[in-house]
Amino acid sequence: MNQFIPNAYTDLYRDSFLRNLPYWLTQDTLYGYLDKLPDTIFSQENAGYSFEGRPVRLIRAGTGKTTVLLWSQMHGDEPTTTRALLDLFGMIDRSSRTPEVGKVLQSLTLLFIPMLNPDGAERFKRRTASGTDMNRDAVVLRTPEARLLKSVRDTFNADWGFNLHDQEMRHAAGVTLRPSAISLLAPAFNEEKEINEIRGDAIRLASLLGSYAQELIPDCISRYDDTYEHRAFGDSMQRWGTRTVLIEAGYFPLDRTKETIRKAIAVSIYAALVKLAKNNLPDAAAYEALPFNRRYFCEYILRNVSIFINGIPAGVQDVGLYITPAADFEKHEIYYTVGLAELGDCSTFVSSYDIDAAEYEVNFLCLNSGDASAARWWLPPADEPVDCDIRSSGKSGRVLRIRKGVAESLPEEFIEMNRITAFRDKMLAQ
Ligand SMILES: [Zn+2]
Repeated sequence: MNQFIPNAYTDLYRDSFLRNLPYWLTQDTLYGYLDKLPDTIFSQENAGYSFEGRPVRLIRAGTGKTTVLLWSQMHGDEPTTTRALLDLFGMIDRSSRTPEVGKVLQSLTLLFIPMLNPDGAERFKRRTASGTDMNRDAVVLRTPEARLLKSVRDTFNADWGFNLHDQEMRHAAGVTLRPSAISLLAPAFNEEKEINEIRGDAIRLASLLGSYAQELIPDCISRYDDTYEHRAFGDSMQRWGTRTVLIEAGYFPLDRTKETIRKAIAVSIYAALVKLAKNNLPDAAAYEALPFNRRYFCEYILRNVSIFINGIPAGVQDVGLYITPAADFEKHEIYYTVGLAELGDCSTFVSSYDIDAAEYEVNFLCLNSGDASAARWWLPPADEPVDCDIRSSGKSGRVLRIRKGVAESLPEEFIEMNRITAFRDKMLAQ
């Protein structure tokens, strides 16, 4: 059965969300907001320290028997869900006197760890300051951040878990020619991907979240790869008996700071907590109907473009270029690097900017051997930042240089806008 989000929840979001919250969120900024939370609803304590000694806060709300643990940003360059949690705090605060939230705070104990990896967030890097991917540290627990998360789980014997991340900006919802704005997963607890009572419950929660997210960003919701990873926290939580759902903030075209997705995640979690408090979850159908993630989204697709590799003609092909956020430390700003997703046939791909590029040429520079005579044997590396020049083959002959993925101006500004079609125009028409 489909679940519907009451309009009151989206109104509540509109009235509660933090308007000037930066995308690159550091712990100082986060804690500035947390310090303002009312202690009548939220209690805060230090749950431990990061590798570099930053205190990591645990925030509690409610006194119910059922414990729900929500943690975000174990990967420092994945801020969207921490931003969504801040919005969620505002929503809970503003609606704390409603019967629904009264019931949530009475039935559930909510435990939040926003920004588990503050050292990584400071640098806008995935890994902890010790160089570890803490999402592969759930078993051996070498990092203080992983020990902290495990110890909070154990102390409260968390019944439910929300494992909050950002995924790469290059996933589509299956072969639907729709981007993956949010992907969900009820992780496996063993190689066989069996479904026991714990994972079955997690699937029903994912089903609920999937229905809500579908309503907020239609047809752009997918399922994350369900391969079992023994060392990962989601899979381990499920194994330890915490009914866990992974939520990955993906990408919605033209919304590079993911405000649409941040809102959908905050509202969906709020609505799901109301249902959890009533112990009212749907069956697995909505989750099972979600298409799996495919790496079929690009920021730019140049169709029918003349390709050169080190100046040597390589025929007419499609080029798919994806983007990845990176940090400029001097300006304390995020910029986006461009990588090669596909060269050849991009017919299964969807993009923000779909460009009829017959009057353009792309020359990939792959002279990394130092041996010019071997130049023709070097091919552009897929899934890596590109070195290339995009040239207008018309009168102007202008060139856009992209080096190590960094473009000297935005490709969408360089390419004549009347050649850009598809998803972008559909979005703008809405
Ligand atoms: Zn992550």
